[in-house]
Amino acid sequence: MTKLSIRDLDLTNKRVFIRVDFNVPLEKGAVAEDTRIRETIPTLKFAINRGARLVLASHLGRPKGKPDPKYTLKPVAARLAELLGQPVAFAADCVGPEAESKSRALKDGDVLLLQNVRYHPEEEANDENFSRQLAALCDQLYVCDAFGSAHRAHASVVGITKFVKQAAAGLLMERELAYLGKAISNPERPFIAVLGGAKVSDKIEVVQNLMKLADGMLIGGAMAYTFLKSQGQPVGKSLVEDDKLDLAKSLLEQARAKNFNLRLPVDHVVAESPSSTDTKITDIAQTPPDLMGLDIGPKTVELFSRDLASAKLIVWNGPLGMFERPAFSAGTLGIAKAVAEATEAGATSIVGGGDSVAAVEEAGVAAKISHISTGGGASLEFLAGRKLPGVEALTDKS
Ligand code: ADP
Ligand code: MG
Repeated sequence: MTKLSIRDLDLTNKRVFIRVDFNVPLEKGAVAEDTRIRETIPTLKFAINRGARLVLASHLGRPKGKPDPKYTLKPVAARLAELLGQPVAFAADCVGPEAESKSRALKDGDVLLLQNVRYHPEEEANDENFSRQLAALCDQLYVCDAFGSAHRAHASVVGITKFVKQAAAGLLMERELAYLGKAISNPERPFIAVLGGAKVSDKIEVVQNLMKLADGMLIGGAMAYTFLKSQGQPVGKSLVEDDKLDLAKSLLEQARAKNFNLRLPVDHVVAESPSSTDTKITDIAQTPPDLMGLDIGPKTVELFSRDLASAKLIVWNGPLGMFERPAFSAGTLGIAKAVAEATEAGATSIVGGGDSVAAVEEAGVAAKISHISTGGGASLEFLAGRKLPGVEALTDKS
């Protein structure tokens, strides 16, 4: 890691501003699901144990730049207090006199949570004055543990870093950068990428970048059909992005020209519609014109699994079928098992994307995956080779 980590900071007696991701679902004024809060606990405990005074900030939902009780972080303070086993103070606004006096009242090891930063339009505008007001709540120390927001140039992610002495990665962020960074800069080989999901257009840059970095790529899900159709294969009523056919064709040509191992499905599960349970399995070449492909078939699972078995690094983003429906989940669950088995045999595996993470959980193999990436959009941009503003803004180690 080239950026400072929270481990590098001298935190004792200091107020540290920690940007976390507490964007959790609320129900009837309480936290309905607390995974994201629990994930930050190691970082927060680390700071508490070092005698820091914690000022926490997050966004929740999209309140559109004004206070909206639907998106209050107040219930998060209550849940966080339970998880930490200590009181958590709350400031009803993330800037201004109340936040300032409450931050100054903190003693070593105390925790203050600020109200939703997106109650102010200046947050998403990365406003300089607002950033300075946020920075005024700490003693020149900033930690970012919100990897999922690192692709956004917002005030609490980027702007604030200009007004502190040191800006460091939290433990969660550090872990994301270590794993995803390995894929980008120092992959173990063979490195196999598995890409799926709904749209090619979401993942074009990822395909392009990983074609440069990986040793092979397995493409499934709806996005495979744009590639298959560009090759003149029959795809029936499967989802195709017709405006991306030329691009898909040229990517396949590039792959062929450099002998890159890019695999597409050879068979699939077809049905009249996603709600149908009347399914059959056909080779791609035999796709009936009136049916749509909704999952990869068993031959494809076997073909893909063979590549995965010899991989030393696997990056997976996007389900290989409409796995939310049991009739179309076998392919994705089969690949989840193959990724888990490869990991047990010594490979490093990284799974990102909200739906893909849900799929490995459903397959019961989440604990066997080396790293589950929390930031969907941020991890895609990272894998596409883009610089994340929230990472770039952190202080370089030197
Ligand atoms: P992630 O959240 O892991 O990044 P995406 O959001 O890109 O994944 O894609 C997930 C969605 O793609 C799921 O809702 C899934 O149902 C859909 N999908 C995958 N394969 C197909 C298919 N063959 N036809 C229609 N939808 C599909
Ligand atoms: Mg998704």
